[in-house]
Amino acid sequence: MPSGTATVVGGGFAGLAAATALARYGWDVTLHERGPEIRAFGSALALSENGLKVLEMLGAYDDAVQGAFPLSNRETRDGEGRLLSSYNWKTEVQTLRMFMLLRSRVIAALETAARKAGVTIVTSSEISDVDAGGAVTLASGETRTADLVVIADGAGSRSSVRKGLFKRRKLFADGSIRMLVPRDAAGEWPEGTFVEYWSGRRRAMLSPCSEKHLYLGLIAQKGDERGTRAPIDKESWIESFPVLRDYIETVGEQERWSWDQYQSVILTKWHQGRVAILGDAAHAMSPNFGQGAALAMVNALSLAAVVSKARDIETALAGWEENERPLVDRTQLLSGVYSSLMNWPAFARNAALAGMGRSRWIMKQRTLAAYRTPTGYAPGQVEA
Ligand SMILES: Cc1cc2nc3c(=O)[nH]c(=O)nc-3n(C[C@H](O)[C@H](O)[C@H](O)COP(=O)(O)OP(=O)(O)OC[C@H]3O[C@@H](n4cnc5c(N)ncnc54)[C@H](O)[C@@H]3O)c2cc1C
Repeated sequence: MPSGTATVVGGGFAGLAAATALARYGWDVTLHERGPEIRAFGSALALSENGLKVLEMLGAYDDAVQGAFPLSNRETRDGEGRLLSSYNWKTEVQTLRMFMLLRSRVIAALETAARKAGVTIVTSSEISDVDAGGAVTLASGETRTADLVVIADGAGSRSSVRKGLFKRRKLFADGSIRMLVPRDAAGEWPEGTFVEYWSGRRRAMLSPCSEKHLYLGLIAQKGDERGTRAPIDKESWIESFPVLRDYIETVGEQERWSWDQYQSVILTKWHQGRVAILGDAAHAMSPNFGQGAALAMVNALSLAAVVSKARDIETALAGWEENERPLVDRTQLLSGVYSSLMNWPAFARNAALAGMGRSRWIMKQRTLAAYRTPTGYAPGQVEA
């Protein structure tokens, strides 16, 4: 089937990337987003080589990386700021790009690319169900069919087809409050550096993410009443991370305040009939390896490439999952294991973190997904 009609449910990273890629392959695509507009949730994120290649293919790269902070060095430090480990991947692999970016910029770039590719975007349009036969029911009760249906409505996805494929959800003990603070709070920031701080059962992440902003993520476990409080309990966080006092004190009102608990979602299959399930709806993962959005976009591009060449959609979707799933499963598993370090005693954890910084094998596992070239990536066709 060279092309046809496609309905995409959800206007996040997965849905926008899938819709744009399909439209660029000649599909007639309608995307339904339940919110009144396409918008990002959360403050900033890291995108690595694999996700950046997809943005290039969709014509969204230049807009997305505007003002972004290029990363090349990952440090772990304790609450007082003492260095535990440091890893510079540019000394190993010059070609691996990674950026810390504003989510709002990436989503806006994807929306612009989708519209340019001819995607019809319908906002305030909640899909109430998608069944295994591919019938899409709108909140108004109207039912539609398409040659291909892509479910990309996030970890809380509730359609009947996904319910039928659901295997399990794991809620991790940890979760984070994500914020933006003024970049000038940092003074001079070391080039390319992302820092993760550890203290007791808490963590903090800090890195520039735009010309004006620093990303500050505060991670605490369920049951840590002061750590999961939003707006944040500044006194309690400064106690854990005295080295971050200047940043924590400058935290102002955020657009959205919440402690978001990490979770992973596992389905028995990512497809049924003419329906494909994509992004967090298929494989939400703990964010320790910074790969959820990147892999959502990678799988969106590969989905579009595969179904656009196939004669039969069902067979194409089975091949798509077979090709993409092993790496996703592995990343999801290893990323979850990293969270368990929060429960280790400080001396053992610090030794483990120092060892990780020195181990090329461990860093390779961390960046396995980042290195893989997405199916459908063809540099000659960029901006085609
Ligand atoms: C703390 C944290 C940090 C992270 N950091 C990174 C990182 O550094 N790098 C990275 O790659 N990933 C990161 N991730 C993961 C990343 O945020 C997710 O994997 C990504 O947002 C998933 O995109 P999605 O499009 O699948 O789902 P979502 O972003 O959840 O989008 C789903 C969309 O569907 C819409 N929707 C829902 N229901 C319906 C419906 N019934 N009808 C119509 N529309 C609907 C929603 O409004 C939403 O717009 C992080 C996640 C967390 C929690």
